Amino acid sequence: MRGLMQERPLLVSGLIAYAEQYHSDTEIVSRLSDRSVHRSNWREIGVRSRRLANALARLGLRQGDRVATLAWNSFRHLELYFGVAGSGGVLHTVNPRLFPEQIEYIIAHAESGHVFFDLTFAALVEKLAPLLPSVRGWVALCDAEGLAGLNIPNLLCYETLLAAETDAFDWPVFDERDACALCYTSGTTGHPKGVLYSHRSQVLHAMATCSLDALAVSSRDSILLVVPLFHANAWGVPFAAAMSGAKLVLPGSLLDGESIYHLLRDERCNFSMGVPTVWLGFFDYIERNRATLDLSALKLERVAVGGSAAPRAIIEKFQTLLGTFLIHAWGMTETSPLGAVGNPLPKHRDLPAAAMFDLQTKQGRPIYGAELRILGADGTVQPHDGVAVGDLQIRGNWIVSAYFKADGPATDADGWFTTGDVAKIDPDGYVQLTDRSKDVIKSGGEWISSIDVENIAVGHPDVQEAAVIGVYHPKWQERPLLLIHRKPGRDPSKADIIGFLEGKIAKWWTPDDVVFVESLPHTATGKLLKIALRETYRDHLTGAG
Ligand code: AMP
Repeated sequence: MRGLMQERPLLVSGLIAYAEQYHSDTEIVSRLSDRSVHRSNWREIGVRSRRLANALARLGLRQGDRVATLAWNSFRHLELYFGVAGSGGVLHTVNPRLFPEQIEYIIAHAESGHVFFDLTFAALVEKLAPLLPSVRGWVALCDAEGLAGLNIPNLLCYETLLAAETDAFDWPVFDERDACALCYTSGTTGHPKGVLYSHRSQVLHAMATCSLDALAVSSRDSILLVVPLFHANAWGVPFAAAMSGAKLVLPGSLLDGESIYHLLRDERCNFSMGVPTVWLGFFDYIERNRATLDLSALKLERVAVGGSAAPRAIIEKFQTLLGTFLIHAWGMTETSPLGAVGNPLPKHRDLPAAAMFDLQTKQGRPIYGAELRILGADGTVQPHDGVAVGDLQIRGNWIVSAYFKADGPATDADGWFTTGDVAKIDPDGYVQLTDRSKDVIKSGGEWISSIDVENIAVGHPDVQEAAVIGVYHPKWQERPLLLIHRKPGRDPSKADIIGFLEGKIAKWWTPDDVVFVESLPHTATGKLLKIALRETYRDHLTGAG
C-alpha cells in the first residue's frame, strides 16, 4: 500500500525561496579582492538570482545546460549557485588552482557553454578562451567599468546582464533527480572525473548538514565560509545556510591568517569551516601577534575541519586559545561531501581534555544517510573494533553512482563506493583514517600510518607542515621518510624532531631520516601531493639514482 502524502520535488530553488522569504534581512557579507567589504542579504541574493535566471534564459540556457564558474567565495558566486541550479541549469564550479591544461580539459569535457569568472582570473581566461571555442560567452563578475582592458572574445558583464532584467521569474518545477551541480575531482593521476549532483541529493545533504549531530547549521549562526565554493559545493554549506537562514561571510581570495582573523572578529562569526592548511596559517598569525591581539574578541564556538586530517596540535590550539570546539569531518567530492562528522556522544561529556582531543583526531562517525564499512585485503567486511584496518567504502543518497559521461558505474553491485581511503572504525562508529590506499607505507609487510606520524610531527613548535612518505628500502621494502617544512626563523635539528616523536609512536614507525624542505607540494585542494614527493625521494635511503 502506497502512503498518501504529497511528493513535492526537492529542488534547490526551494532553498533560496525560503531564505528570501523568511530570513530576508540576514546578511551575506563578502570580502572583495580590493579588501573592501560588500553587504547583501538573503532577500537581495534571492532577487538577483531571479534576475540572473532571466539573463540565463536570454542567453539561451536550457534545462541541463552546464554553466561554469572560475570564482572565489562572494555574493555573485552565491547568486550563481541558486540562479543557475534554480532555473534548471547545472552549475559547474571549476577549481582555478588546477593547471590550465586541466581547466581546459574540464570545461571542454563538461561542455559548459558559459563561464562566469572573477577578474582575478582574467589572465587565465585570456589564455583559455582561444582553446575553448565551445564556450559561447565569458561573463566577468563585475560591473561595466571592470571590463576595461580585457582582451577576451564573447565577453559579457555580469552586472550589465542583471541590470537589463526584471526579478519576475517563477522557478520552474521539474524532476528532483535532475542534475544541479557538477564538480571535478582533482585526482593525482589521470584526468579529473566529474561528479554530477542532483537537486534531490543536495537538498537531502543540506537537511543532514543542518542536523544537530552533523554541523548544526541554523539561523543562529554567522558562518565564515573559508572552504571555497569551487570545492565540493563548499561542503554543501551554502545550501544548508539557505535552508536554515544562517548568515554567511565570504572571504574571497584573502585566506591569509590576518584576513581570516579580522573577518571572524568583525562579523562575530561563531562557526567556520576549512582545510587544515588554512588554520595552520591562522594560528601562525595569532602566535606571531599574540602580544597585541585581544583573543576574547573572537566568538568562534565551533569550526569544522576536513579535506585532510586535522592535526591534534590544531585541535588543541582551537580549544585552549579560543575555546573553539573543532569538529573533524570526513568526506569527498564524490560524497557531497559529508560522510562522517566528529561530534562527541553524551558519554564523552566529562572526558578529560586529553581524551577529548584524542577523540577529535578521529574523522567522526557516520551521519544518517551515509553508510560506511571497511574491507580487508581479502575483500571481507571487517569488524568495527577500532583495530581492524581496511579500505573504506560508503553508500547513500548523496554518494556518487557513476562519474559524468563514464561508461560504467562507480560502485559495486550493492551500491558501495570505494573511497581510496584506508581506515579503522571503532565500536562507536568513529572512523579513523590511516592513509590513502596509494599512500600506504608497508614496512616488512606491516602498515605504517603516515597520517599519524604527520599529525604528531606538526605538534612540534618549530614545524609548519610535515609529510611522511614510503621510500625504497632493500630490507624492509619501504621505510618512512619524514619531510619537514619549518616555521619561518626556526631551525630544529633532525635529532630534535625524532626525539619529539619518541614515545608517541611505535618505535618501528620512526622515520629512517628527516629532510628539511623549503615547501611541500600540494594538490589544487590543499592536500599533500605525495606522488611527487615519492618520485623525488624514491632512492633517498639507498643513495642510488
Ligand atoms: P576531495 O574529493 O578533494 O574532497 O578529497 C577527498 C579526500 O580527502 C578523501 O578521500 C580523503 O583522502 C581526504 N580527506 C577528507 N577529509 C579528511 C579528513 N578529515 N582526514 C583525512 N583525510 C581527509
